[in-house]
Amino acid sequence: MKVPFNVLDRQFFLHQQEYESKALEVLRSGWYILGSEVKSFEKEFAAYLGAKYCIGLASGLDALMIAFRALGIGSGDEVIVAANSYIACVMGITMNGATPIFVEPDKYYNIDPKAVEDAVTKKTKAVLAVHLYGQSADMSSLKDICNRHGLYLVEDCAQSHGSKHGEKMSGTIGDIGCFSFYPSKNLGCFGDGGAIVTENPDIEKEIRVLRNYGSEKRYHNKTVGYNSRLDEIQAGLLRVKLRYIDELNKEREEIAKRYLTEIKNEEILLPESMKNSTHIYHLFVIRLKNREKFMKYMEENDIGKMIHYPIPPHLSEAYSYLGYKEGDFPLAEAYSNEVVSIPIYNGMKKEEIDYVIEVINNYK
Ligand SMILES: *Cc1c(COP(=O)(O)O)cnc(C)c1O
Repeated sequence: MKVPFNVLDRQFFLHQQEYESKALEVLRSGWYILGSEVKSFEKEFAAYLGAKYCIGLASGLDALMIAFRALGIGSGDEVIVAANSYIACVMGITMNGATPIFVEPDKYYNIDPKAVEDAVTKKTKAVLAVHLYGQSADMSSLKDICNRHGLYLVEDCAQSHGSKHGEKMSGTIGDIGCFSFYPSKNLGCFGDGGAIVTENPDIEKEIRVLRNYGSEKRYHNKTVGYNSRLDEIQAGLLRVKLRYIDELNKEREEIAKRYLTEIKNEEILLPESMKNSTHIYHLFVIRLKNREKFMKYMEENDIGKMIHYPIPPHLSEAYSYLGYKEGDFPLAEAYSNEVVSIPIYNGMKKEEIDYVIEVINNYK
């Protein structure tokens, strides 16, 4: 049997009729940018999360970049972020001229609140909590630290649409929640897309202006903004998928539950669940010492796998100018050498899940 790492058309065929009729409806409407689909999606996504405002944007990276810009964070300011984050998290900070301050993750792969506390300086303006792989970070501790030091708390929810910490959805706990709707995300569209959610009306207004060339009124530009708009077709398709997001997340959780109870192999470390957070399993990430051997074994058995992520941002060529070296963040670096993501996606068949479990249990 062959089990690919991900097959994106399976979730499309699950609700094919509705996606196709929505796409046709938008095509025939004659209105393609900032119209009723975007407006409705913003309203519906905010309602789903329990957020006050939602602003549709062109991508997750744009959401991060515009979030820090809207908070007035730039040159000379520091933002604390986990060293094992995705590179886009860091780019959202540095595109504004601000400096990322890396800290070690906890055993759930999220930013470690104790490390955050130690990294706060006079220049710190914000903490970026990335809910990595789909599990919410320890937001109560982070919020407490940010309140005590007067810092903004920004959430990267690109992998956590619908995951909770306590009673609240990720994205609604900090000052700004940033989302990506890249096709493979749990709430993915069929192209690029992103959004910001916030409770703050001033931030909301500022972001609406920034996403559209810095103008509130056409041809009256208050500031140098961006072209970062979610388009009507993607918004319409996202409205369809949003109706099923809880089911889709549940399906992934069921697969994860099987992996967690049925994968039994001493070489392999399974992901751990945090007490007060839920996990929507955007990725199912295991860890093991001899990763190369395991990757080869999976390949021989026709099972897809990926590494999220092989190079931590502080060692990436893009950030060589920051002057970090190997050994600066031993835990994040160990994770980057040991993690492997195994197949988990909507529409995955029972035989495929059985096969992945069987093959991994036979690994020696
Ligand atoms: C996907 C992702 C992003 C970037 O989203 P794009 O829409 O691809 O720009 C940012 N942060 C994290 C954690 C992501 O997984």
